[in-house]
Amino acid sequence: MENTLGHILHEKGWILADGAIGTQLFNMGLQSGDAPELWNDLQPEKIRKLYRSSIDAGCDLFLTNSFGSNSCRLKLHNKEREDFRLSKLSAELGREEIGKEKRKIVLAGSMGPTGEILQPLGALSFKDAVEVFHIQAEGLKEGGADILWIETISHLDELRAAIDAAKLAEMEWCGTMSFDTSGRTMMGITSKEFSKNISEMDYKPLAYGANCGVGPSDLIRTLLGFEDLRLPIIAKGNAGIPKYADGKIRYDGTPELMASYACLARDAGAKIIGGCCGTTPEHLTLMRQALEGQKPMTKPSIDEIIEKLGPLSSNSDGTDLENMKGPRRLKRKRRL
Ligand SMILES: [Zn+2]
Repeated sequence: MENTLGHILHEKGWILADGAIGTQLFNMGLQSGDAPELWNDLQPEKIRKLYRSSIDAGCDLFLTNSFGSNSCRLKLHNKEREDFRLSKLSAELGREEIGKEKRKIVLAGSMGPTGEILQPLGALSFKDAVEVFHIQAEGLKEGGADILWIETISHLDELRAAIDAAKLAEMEWCGTMSFDTSGRTMMGITSKEFSKNISEMDYKPLAYGANCGVGPSDLIRTLLGFEDLRLPIIAKGNAGIPKYADGKIRYDGTPELMASYACLARDAGAKIIGGCCGTTPEHLTLMRQALEGQKPMTKPSIDEIIEKLGPLSSNSDGTDLENMKGPRRLKRKRRL
C-alpha cells in the first residue's frame, strides 16, 4: 500500500480512527433533525473544532463531515443540489487542519447510506444510486480526501453502488457495515457473508470491517466472524449501548470501557480502531494510551469479551447457522 494509510499501518501496526461526529456536533448545539453537513457551510469553525479534537486526541485517521451529503439525504432539507459542494467543503476543512500538523494523518471521505431502499424492494435504481454516490465522491476528492470511507451500510447492493462510485472517481476506499440485528445487518448480512463478498470483488478495499451496531461487545464478536482476507480489519464500535432517556439517545460507555474495547478489538484482529456513536475525544485519548501501553494478545473468547465489556445483545451472530448450511448444501449437490 503506497498510500498514507498503508504507510502508518506499516510503521505502527495499527491506526487510531476517530469517534462519533454526530455525538460531538449535538454537544456543539446541532438539533436533532438538522443536517450536520450544512454546518460545513454555515458553521465551519465548529467543523474545524470537531476535526481538531480528533487530531489532538491522537487520531491517525478521521472522517469528513459528509456522512449524509448525498442528494437523497439532502433532499429532505431541500439541499439536494448542494451535494458536491458540501462534500467538497467537508474535505477542504479537514485538509486545512491536517496541513497544520507535522505527522501523517489520513483524511477519509465519509459516505453513509442514501436512506433509500434499492430496487426491487424500494424505488431507487442501482444506476441512480451509483450516480448519487459518484457526485459525493467527486466532491470529497476535489476537497482533498485521501480515500473514501463507505460506512454504516446494511445492504450489499448499496455497498456495491458506492464502490462503483469510488471506482468512477478513481478513489481508493474502505468500507464498514453495521451489524445491529442479532449480529446481522438490518438487511440480514452476517460478518462472514460480508467477508465473502469482499473477497469476490474486483475493486478491493484498503480495509473493511464493522461500525456502529449495538454495543462494543457485539462489535468485537462481529470481528471474530470475519474471514482472513489479508486485508486490514476496521473496528468502529459505539461507546456503550444506546439507551433512550429524556427524549434523547445516550451512550453510557466510559473512556475506560472503550480503552478495553480498543485493545480487545486489536486482539480480535482489527488494525484500524476507532469509535462510533457516543465516542468523544476523552474516549479516544484513553483508547490511544491503552493501545500504546498494552501488548497485543491472542484472540479473546466470548466469555472474555462479556467479562470486560458487558453482555451481548443476542446469543448468536448468525455465523454458526451458516456453518450448518455448508454440509446441507453439499448433500444436495451429491444427490444431483
Ligand atoms: Zn454509530
